[in-house]
Amino acid sequence: MSIPGIHTASVSAPGKINVSLQVGPLRKDGYHSVASVYLAVSLLEDVRATAGQSGITVAVEGGGPLRIPVDGIPLGPDNLVARAAAELAHRTGRRDPAVDLLITKRVPVAGGMGGGSADAAAALMACNSLWGTGLSHTELASIASGLGADVPFALAGGAAVGLGVGDQLTPLDAEASLHWVLVASSIGLSTPGVYRRLDELRAGRNIPEPAAADPRVLEAVRSGNAAALAGVIHNDLQAAALSLAPQLAPVLDRGRELGALAGIVSGSGPTLAFLAGGAAAAADLESALRAEGHNALAVHGPARGAEVTAPADIT
Ligand code: ATP
Repeated sequence: MSIPGIHTASVSAPGKINVSLQVGPLRKDGYHSVASVYLAVSLLEDVRATAGQSGITVAVEGGGPLRIPVDGIPLGPDNLVARAAAELAHRTGRRDPAVDLLITKRVPVAGGMGGGSADAAAALMACNSLWGTGLSHTELASIASGLGADVPFALAGGAAVGLGVGDQLTPLDAEASLHWVLVASSIGLSTPGVYRRLDELRAGRNIPEPAAADPRVLEAVRSGNAAALAGVIHNDLQAAALSLAPQLAPVLDRGRELGALAGIVSGSGPTLAFLAGGAAAAADLESALRAEGHNALAVHGPARGAEVTAPADIT
């Protein structure tokens, strides 16, 4: 519904699971090359952009089905939505962005599901709509990769292979949905910290550059074959995340005991993702994990990328 005199644009963008993540050695520039198979899931962030007085303001509301606490998220220029809006304004010659950004968080913060990246993708699209800057998807994607390795995927959604630092995307045509149960953790893990731990764990070993995604994973995601995917799901960051958060290991075991086909740390963790055989199995697993006190949620993917949910009002 439009409110006369108020200009707003709202955009949703999905969190992601890496169903396969191979990580290369530490590069001279401080990054790691990866071969990642991304899957966008039905847990969405919303960003609402409203024409403001001056500058960029950021507010966050939390909750959602996983009851996400939002304290600790920066509300200043460091927030990824503020960086996204500032970068779009800069690239399009807009002197004062004058925008108020409201994030509705559902994806766990510092959870390894790219929530901040989804916010950045949503903010880019919301400001593009609010300001009528008319940048194409390709132009937004080029700004997105400057904001963070996972931002282009949050913009694109679906399923994709990510090479480079994860930003060189090749979309994957997935024919059927895969069903998962997420378990959110009350702790957060810093992504750079998990990569540092991985480097420590691998010290002295010769680690190859990841050249391509595992073709067995690609085939299982394309065909939506959960049983096949369960055998090949893999995350190079898992050992590092578990070494920083050992309390996750028994939860991974428990999810499997309760019927998951496979369980994995999502990205850099600590969110866990359990693969289920279908929608009903995911609902059962969600209930069983919740009954044991876990913060569990059934989701499915692929989910669509960033999209406008409410158009900018022209008054
Ligand atoms: P990754 O994309 O590396 O998997 P993540 O999902 O583990 O990241 P995020 O929730 O995206 O973690 O954010 C990690 C950190 O980034 C937070 O701890 C916070 O300090 C900072 N941050 C900046 N902007 C945001 C935002 N909009 N939402 C959440 N965190 C943000």
